[in-house]
Amino acid sequence: MTQYRSPIVLMYHGTPAAQPESHYSIHADLFAKHLGYLQQEGWTTVLFKDLQNAETLPEKSVVITFDDGYEDNYPGAFLPLMANGMKATWFIATDCIGKHAHWLGNPSTQSRMLTAERLLEMHAAGMEIASHTCSHPDLSVLNLDQQRLELSKAKVVLEDLLSTQVSSLAYPFGRFNADSVTAAQQTGYSIACTTRPGWFDSESNPYMVRRIAIFSGDSVSTLARKLSFADNDVSWKKMTRYYADRVWDKLIRVF
Ligand SMILES: [Zn+2]
Repeated sequence: MTQYRSPIVLMYHGTPAAQPESHYSIHADLFAKHLGYLQQEGWTTVLFKDLQNAETLPEKSVVITFDDGYEDNYPGAFLPLMANGMKATWFIATDCIGKHAHWLGNPSTQSRMLTAERLLEMHAAGMEIASHTCSHPDLSVLNLDQQRLELSKAKVVLEDLLSTQVSSLAYPFGRFNADSVTAAQQTGYSIACTTRPGWFDSESNPYMVRRIAIFSGDSVSTLARKLSFADNDVSWKKMTRYYADRVWDKLIRVF
């Protein structure tokens, strides 16, 4: 029987109804299957900001996060989440609201971003709308002042739009340095996430919360293994090595 450690944070991106153009996006039909699996296995969805009080969360808590805020998340993720009484957190690059994800290159249907109206509706429905900076830069190449500006401006834009406090942040491309953590603290965020895989409780710094990445080909059984091992690579090759190591450990203890 699998023992689950909780809470655990998952990272999704786009949820198109067509073949995903990006390795990070997942077909809406497959995402719906992921939700069905989480529900069937008794997971409770909580918001990223709820991790600030992780000890109060239900035993099997999962945080579903979406980076960037793609327009296809509205039909492909928000509506199915609502239909199942589940919730999630969106990290929004504020310069791109209602526009395109410029860092993906040529604009396409799948690079279109949620509008301010959609974000308001999702917030009103109980979803968390959080910060992913303004322009989606690689923070690690910016100086502290530039990083502070990206973080504080995005916070103000979202707080004005939603009339609520925004306390959560995700570093674009998962790239950050010590200044990013300082900037996040100084600009009033209380929790931030990276793209480093691992368990929530394996990281004591609240500005370096780990997440498991979900990729376009991830079946329900891959999701199940990711939830069990808190790793992005759950290929059978790696799993076999994991179990082989455990058997080896036991043998060593016996002899
Ligand atoms: Zn991003």
